[in-house]
Amino acid sequence: MDRRKLIAGNWKMNGSRDANTSLVHEIMLDARKYPKVDVLICPPLVYLDSVGRQIEGSPVQLGAQNLADQQKAGAFTGEVLGSMLRDIGCSAVIVGHSERRSLYGESDAVVARKFQCAQNSGLIPVLCIGETLQERESGATEAVVARQLDAVLVSSGAAVFKNAVIAYEPVWAIGTGRTATPEQAQAVHQFIRGRLAVQDAKIAKSTRILYGGSMKADNAGELLACPDIDGGLIGGASLKANEFLAICAAAQAQSE
Ligand code: PEP
Repeated sequence: MDRRKLIAGNWKMNGSRDANTSLVHEIMLDARKYPKVDVLICPPLVYLDSVGRQIEGSPVQLGAQNLADQQKAGAFTGEVLGSMLRDIGCSAVIVGHSERRSLYGESDAVVARKFQCAQNSGLIPVLCIGETLQERESGATEAVVARQLDAVLVSSGAAVFKNAVIAYEPVWAIGTGRTATPEQAQAVHQFIRGRLAVQDAKIAKSTRILYGGSMKADNAGELLACPDIDGGLIGGASLKANEFLAICAAAQAQSE
């Protein structure tokens, strides 16, 4: 089954109006060179609208980094509804990033609710799952990613992955410069796809599973060559146009 590669940039809490304008300008200059790749950028909330206007008419898509676990507007100070993100042109939203889980106490149940809220608003959730170093070293990697995946599978069923993306992000590789080897990443991606397949083989074949964790220009090619790695969720390297575009080029090369 044809799974288009997806390269998604998670800018986290970085940027300014000026810096964003030039970064987006650089990305857009090259974006049409990767027709077989979906390119998504996820700026901080406050810049979504202006970045969305800048990429209008280009193949670059807009995503958010977070949304409220609420279905309807109301008294939730500081929160943002999925429908508001749709309203300003987002097509996707990251849910369950390990920084949200560890720094802001998002439980599997909250992440599952956010996943559902995203889909109910017509957004593609990019569901992040992954183990800490301690969990890996104690042999719990599969149990952890299974638990995080099951939180969504049990509450929403496998069919919801028709309109969703999974990102396997080993926490020990995020922002550390330490990347999972292609073999380590492929093994977990295969495990995730297998777990989906138990529920629905067709969905498992079509669901895109991204790798995230210090993906850069110089390691993207070998990671993206793995049969179950369908793209990347890129943090640090998404803030440098040349690095980000080189990863897009590596994804394009793997798709030809
Ligand atoms: C991330 O935060 O999703 C991520 C993968 O970060 P980095 O690429 O910087 O490791």
